[in-house]
Amino acid sequence: MHDFFSERAGYENRCYIRGYTEIRRKEKTLSKLAYSDYLTGLPNRRLFLDRLQQAFYTSDRTGKFTALMVLDCDKFKQINDTLGHDVGDEVIKIFAKRVESSLRKRDTLSRVGGDEFTVVLPEISKVEDVIDISNRILATVNEIMQLHEIELQISTSIGISLYNPASPSNTDELFNKADQELYKAKAKGGNQISFS
Ligand code: GH3
Ligand code: MG
Repeated sequence: MHDFFSERAGYENRCYIRGYTEIRRKEKTLSKLAYSDYLTGLPNRRLFLDRLQQAFYTSDRTGKFTALMVLDCDKFKQINDTLGHDVGDEVIKIFAKRVESSLRKRDTLSRVGGDEFTVVLPEISKVEDVIDISNRILATVNEIMQLHEIELQISTSIGISLYNPASPSNTDELFNKADQELYKAKAKGGNQISFS
């Protein structure tokens, strides 16, 4: 006998599953939009702050440091002004790739503003490791860029602060400290790191 009801139930289940998958896909897209930067696809400020807080929890558990870098491209307005905003966008994307290539797997690079980026470095045992990574970033960012038959060289400044689980601070305090250090690096002419 033809079982109309079970066939119909199967049809409804399939609709339900398809509807559910559609909703999950939309949720994923929305969360991607909410937590990532449109130009680079990197985490945005919101996700950065979350990762920083998570790194603090890890530090509290393990006793190791968390380092925070705030990076800002030097004289980026000049690139926009002389080569145009689209080239500026390309430079930002290349910059992001280069910085990322200098990091460890567990570090998080985020774009938090126009030409401003952050790196959260969890599980730091000694300060020298952060200096090494920073120097790697300065060097790779300095490499010549070939862009639409134009050769370009850029640089970045890096402000660094350290979360010590023995004397905890909050995300705002750590960010402000790194930002002050960035300001010092810029004041000294850029293309360098400053560490508190
Ligand atoms: P400094 O050396 O002190 O960092 O100066 P700067 O010229 O790099 O300028 P600043 O960091 O103060 O400002 C960054 C500029 O980046 C401001 C804005 O015109 C430009 N900008 C912001 N967002 C974007 C973007 O998405 N694409 C491009 N192409 N430019 C952007
Ligand atoms: Mg800048």
